Amino acid sequence: MTKIWKCTSCGRYTLSSDKCPSCGERVKNPHPPNINLQGKYIDTVVRLRREMRWKQE
Ligand SMILES: [Zn+2]
Repeated sequence: MTKIWKCTSCGRYTLSSDKCPSCGERVKNPHPPNINLQGKYIDTVVRLRREMRWKQE
C-alpha cells in the first residue's frame, strides 16, 4: 500500500517522505485512517499519483 505523509506545518498530504513539496517543512505519517475516512484517504492517494504522472509527461 502506498504510504502517504502529511506536512506538520501546512497540513498538505504528499507521497514524499522527505519534506513537504509546498513549504519544505517536515512531514509525518498521519494516524491510520479509520473506516469512515478510508474513501477520502484513497481519493487523496489517487489524486497525488495522477499529479505526479502529469508532471513526468
Ligand atoms: Zn507544508
